[in-house]
Amino acid sequence: MSRGGPRRRPLLGCIADDFTGATDLASMLVANGMRTVQTIGVPEDDDSAGMEADAIVVALKSRTIPADEAVRQSLAACRWLQDAGCEQFFFKYCSTFDSTPKGNIGPVTEALMTALGEDMAIACPALPVNGRTVYQGHLFVGHRLLNESGMQDHPLTPMRDADLTRVLGRQMTGTVGLIGHAVVGAGVEAVRRRMDDLRGEGVHVAIADAIADVDLRTLGAAVANHRLVTGGSGMAIGLPDNFRARGLLAECRDAAALPPVAGKAAVLSGSASVMTNRQVQCWLDAGRPAFRIDALRLAAGEPVVEGALAAFRAYGEPVLFYASCGVEELQAVQARLGAERAGALVEGAMASLAGRLKQEGVRQFVVAGGETSGAVVLALGTRILRIGRAIAPGVPATVSGDGEPLALALKSGNFGGPSFFDDALQALSGGACG
Ligand code: ADP
Repeated sequence: MSRGGPRRRPLLGCIADDFTGATDLASMLVANGMRTVQTIGVPEDDDSAGMEADAIVVALKSRTIPADEAVRQSLAACRWLQDAGCEQFFFKYCSTFDSTPKGNIGPVTEALMTALGEDMAIACPALPVNGRTVYQGHLFVGHRLLNESGMQDHPLTPMRDADLTRVLGRQMTGTVGLIGHAVVGAGVEAVRRRMDDLRGEGVHVAIADAIADVDLRTLGAAVANHRLVTGGSGMAIGLPDNFRARGLLAECRDAAALPPVAGKAAVLSGSASVMTNRQVQCWLDAGRPAFRIDALRLAAGEPVVEGALAAFRAYGEPVLFYASCGVEELQAVQARLGAERAGALVEGAMASLAGRLKQEGVRQFVVAGGETSGAVVLALGTRILRIGRAIAPGVPATVSGDGEPLALALKSGNFGGPSFFDDALQALSGGACG
C-alpha cells in the first residue's frame, strides 16, 4: 500500500463505537488531509505494515453492548493504536450521543483517560453539517432538543434528556463540566483557560458547545496537546491542522488517493431501507442485470447462491444481487420466518455469495446495508480498509489493505442517491481508485 515517500508512523489513533460511524470519521479525516485506514475490530496481530497512514480508525461494535465489555474492547483498541505509534487518541461516538443510562460513552471515556494518563478530556458530539449542535451543554437535532427529535423513541438507545452534562454525569464516576459557547466563541486561549479552571474545580470531562464548524476548529486547536479527545466526527475537523502546523502532514498530498483495483464488479444489496429500494428500482428500470436473493427460497433450502453464480457467469457485466423488498413483503417474510432468522439467512447468503464471487474474479464490490456490509466484509477476509474519496456523503470508496486488494463501497441503508449503485461502480472502477 506504500504510495511513495518515507514511511511514517500514524499520528492519530481513533476508536469508533460502530462501523458506519468509523467510516464517517475516516471520511472526515481524509477530507481534511490525513491518509486514513479503518480496521474492522482490533487487529489480531501487532502488524501495522499494511497501513501506511496518518490516522487509523478502529471500528468496534460497542455502542450498546454491556459497559464493561465496551471498556475492555476500547482499551484493547487503544493499546493496539499505542503500539502502532499513534500519539493522540480520539474516541468517536454518535452525533446524537447514543448511549444507555449506564454507558457506554462515560465508562469508555474514563477508562481511556486512565490508560492514557489524562486528568481532563473534552466531549463534543456536534456535527453542524447534519444539524447536530450543542449549546449550553444541550444537544439539538435541527431546531429540536435531542429528547424531542425522535431519538427519545430509539429502540436501543432512547435519548430522553438533551442536557449532556447530566446524561454523561449519570454514566461517570468523575465530574462533568461545561465549556459554554461564549468561551468557545472567544477563541482557543479562552477555551484552554476554561479547561484549566475546570481542572482546578475537579472536573474530569467537559462538554463543549459548538454550533458551527468554526467552533469545532477552535476546540480542535485547543486540544492539540491532549492525549485523548472525544466526540462525534465533527470534533475531528480541527485535529489535522494541529499535525499540519507541526509539519507532520504533507501539504499537497491527496489523502484520498487509492491504488487502482482491476477486476470484475458486483452489487450486493441486503438493505430494505426506502432509499436502497429506490436504488434497486433505478437499476431495474435501466434494464440492468439483476438476481433476487429470496429469503423464503433460502429457508426452503433451495440453491439460491448457486443460481446467483450461474446468473453472474451468464451476464458479461455487473449484476445486482438483491434481497431488498418493500415493507409489506418484508413483514410477510418476517412473520413466516421470524425477523432474526430471515435476516440471518439473507446475510449468510450475501456473505457466501461474496466469497464465491471473489473466487470468480470479482474485485469491486458495492454493498448496501450496514449489517450486510459487515457480513460481506468478514466473508471477504478483509479487516483493513483504506479510505478514499466520498462517492456520496458518508460513503467513501475504499480499498482493502490486507490480502489481495479489493475495491469496496459499503453504504448503510439510507445513504446515497437513486443512482448510487452506478455511481459507486464508476468510482471503484476508475474515478476514485485510479
Ligand atoms: P440497513 O443499513 O438498511 O439497516 P442492514 O443490512 O443493516 O441494512 O439490515 C437489513 C437487514 O434486513 C439484514 O439483516 C438483511 O439480511 C435483512 N433483509 C434484507 N432483505 C430481506 C428480505 N427480503 N427478507 C428478510 N430479511 C431481509
